[in-house]
Amino acid sequence: MRKSYDVAVIGGGPCGAMAAERLGAMGYGVALIDPGNRIKPCGGAIPSRALADFGIPENQLVARANAARIIAPSGRTIDMTIGDIGYVGMVDRAGFDPYLRLRAVDAGAELLTAKLETITEGANGELALTLQPTGAEASNKPVTDIVVRRVIGADGANSAVRRLMFPSSRRPPYVFAYHEIVETPVDDIPDGFRADRCDVIYDGRISPDFYGWVFPHGKHISIGSGTAVKGHGIREATARLRQSAGLGDCRVIRREGAPLPLKPMRRWDNGRNVLLAGDAAGTVAPSSGEGIYYAMLCGRLAADAMHRSLASNSGKPLADARRTFMHAHGRVFFILGIMQTIWYRNDRLREKFVAMCADPDVQRLTWESYLNKKLVRRDPLAHLRVFAKDLAQLFGIPAGQR
Ligand SMILES: Cc1cc2nc3c(=O)[nH]c(=O)nc-3n(C[C@H](O)[C@H](O)[C@H](O)COP(=O)(O)OP(=O)(O)OC[C@H]3O[C@@H](n4cnc5c(N)ncnc54)[C@H](O)[C@@H]3O)c2cc1C
Repeated sequence: MRKSYDVAVIGGGPCGAMAAERLGAMGYGVALIDPGNRIKPCGGAIPSRALADFGIPENQLVARANAARIIAPSGRTIDMTIGDIGYVGMVDRAGFDPYLRLRAVDAGAELLTAKLETITEGANGELALTLQPTGAEASNKPVTDIVVRRVIGADGANSAVRRLMFPSSRRPPYVFAYHEIVETPVDDIPDGFRADRCDVIYDGRISPDFYGWVFPHGKHISIGSGTAVKGHGIREATARLRQSAGLGDCRVIRREGAPLPLKPMRRWDNGRNVLLAGDAAGTVAPSSGEGIYYAMLCGRLAADAMHRSLASNSGKPLADARRTFMHAHGRVFFILGIMQTIWYRNDRLREKFVAMCADPDVQRLTWESYLNKKLVRRDPLAHLRVFAKDLAQLFGIPAGQR
């Protein structure tokens, strides 16, 4: 007999784990399916608000940053201090994802260590799934079949659910992001490195269309870069970045990369029984590449939409997940998309962009919107000032004439 569930959540990353936790807590029969055999390549930076919103305990953080250093192609550096409005928390995905999956299990979801292989839709609207077991005893275990009423595809940028159930034209645009996890030096700490600061490097040699980073992770450091340009040597660029950060001799623990989607899809559901969420639906912020917070939020919104869909026995409410997400964050994503298009084009513009980051209004609005996840409304004049300075930088108007 095939086992049946109300919902199969495919993928136990931040998005799927959150969705499974919420649906489990509502009393639904939930299968959370994850191969559990790979650490997600990720810089691990989350805004402090994520801890409050998703009940993440401080002990999940491996480091905290209270500033960012922005580095221009010329080598000019701008330090952006956060002050007392929050901090950037660093999670290690090797422990963070299993912690989130455990929360889902505690809430009532059943964790199946397996990989989704196929989905077949029956005439009655039910979905039959074949799962390939993974993990320690996988070779002794036969392929598992389960039957579900609904599927949430939270299986990341290369989503199998999207590939199986949506037209291939729906794949969101992406950059490829690569990083190296190295050991943090204990004695010989290089001058340029700080264990409580995130460094962000805008330099065409490191990335011709995105940026590079050096993020502290306590005992480890994540050093990486992203690009959509085929033929850009991202590994060589990362090696150069390690050298210039004074971290070239550190022991490498892992080298890994993955696609980073940069635009939410226009539709996340099939109108009947399947809903994509998180990276699978493309919900990573342009310009910054921030995806963890948005994936967790999407997981919750997907669960709420599923609940309404199951309760009303209709596929229509599935569209609520995207609608609610875009209502809350669509404007910020739009602005970040424009910023990426304008400022990440060449080194001349990158240099100007970094110069703009010296501005106190820009710094305050950047941190407030990153940490609070909304456009700051209480100071509309500051937005106007930033907009005017943005234009002035773009057109090269000298400071005295602005
Ligand atoms: C190099 C790099 C650095 C990044 N740095 C940051 C950062 O500092 N801060 C930030 O906010 N974001 C960062 N991101 C983005 C962030 O990692 C993602 O946006 C986030 O992990 C998305 O969560 P998710 O749950 O949607 O997908 P994922 O985290 O990708 O989780 C998907 C899960 O699905 C599972 N899965 C895949 N296929 C199947 C299948 N067939 N069957 C079952 N399960 C499957 C996977 O094993 C995985 O556990 C970075 C991304 C990259 C690549």
